[in-house]
Amino acid sequence: MALAGPLLFRVGYSLYARTRLGYLFYQRQVKKARERYPHGHSAPQPCRFPGVKILPIPVLSNNYSYLVIDTGSGRAAVVDPSDPLAVQAAIEEEGVMLEAIFCTHKHWDHSGGNAALHQRHSSCKVYGSALDAIPELTNSLEDREKVSVGCLTFEALATPGHTVGHMVYVLDGGPFGGPPCLFSGDLLFLAGCGRLFEGSPETMLASLDVAVGLGEDTLLWPGHEYALECLTFASLLELDNPTLEQKLRWVTQQRQEKRSTCPSTLGEEQSYNPFLRTHRPELQAALGMRRDGGEHPDAFRARVLKEVRRRKDLYKAT
Ligand SMILES: [Zn+2]
Repeated sequence: MALAGPLLFRVGYSLYARTRLGYLFYQRQVKKARERYPHGHSAPQPCRFPGVKILPIPVLSNNYSYLVIDTGSGRAAVVDPSDPLAVQAAIEEEGVMLEAIFCTHKHWDHSGGNAALHQRHSSCKVYGSALDAIPELTNSLEDREKVSVGCLTFEALATPGHTVGHMVYVLDGGPFGGPPCLFSGDLLFLAGCGRLFEGSPETMLASLDVAVGLGEDTLLWPGHEYALECLTFASLLELDNPTLEQKLRWVTQQRQEKRSTCPSTLGEEQSYNPFLRTHRPELQAALGMRRDGGEHPDAFRARVLKEVRRRKDLYKAT
């Protein structure tokens, strides 16, 4: 029995990620979510800087796609268009021209709308890593490669761990006097991180460090609305963290009103997100973990990350 759980999980994951069954499952998810949330799972709150508009589009039961608009030219990019109808509706309402689809990874709840949107906007490019089987990929990107859409510049960063070819996209806020914007897919959520389907804790730790390196003022636009669950879990790990408690109170209120909780900032995340706090003695003590003599600090942090992830997986399962 001890093996049955993980084995079944692995088989289920392979079916979802690698076969047509996964696509059929995704289609059912989309249909159910459209019936259940005809106006989306959360109230979207657009964010504007001079020259840029970022519109979160709530899709499926807890995913976000993002329409990023160069308001001067009306050119736009979309990140992870899972439900093509919801994204198309936003494109029409905004009256913009779709030039790019940035796909963080192959999972259907992030890439399922690529084909329909690409068919409708034939000049639009589909970007992502060649290491993930991203539907309709037209332009594969390397780590640190930049793409312009109108006046907007996005940088792709390779962040493996959740999948082998996971990428995040960073919008340069500099030209608009705004902060950088990180579209993190399933690498990083408010108070959480993605599951380690195709990578080791060491790999995921290195990818999270890349995200943290973007700077504290960076806005985090995650792939899912998981804030309430993740913060509640974090509050059970770290019992005495006032910043965490304060954010949990705010998130609880936001979710009661079905309002979106994004964006947060990477500075905020480092104060309460346990997956970004593997170096913190208070978290290590809460887990009852100590660095072995001679153990490399990063090896220890990877062990801490693995333990936090294990506990989070168990928490979700209960
Ligand atoms: Zn995923």
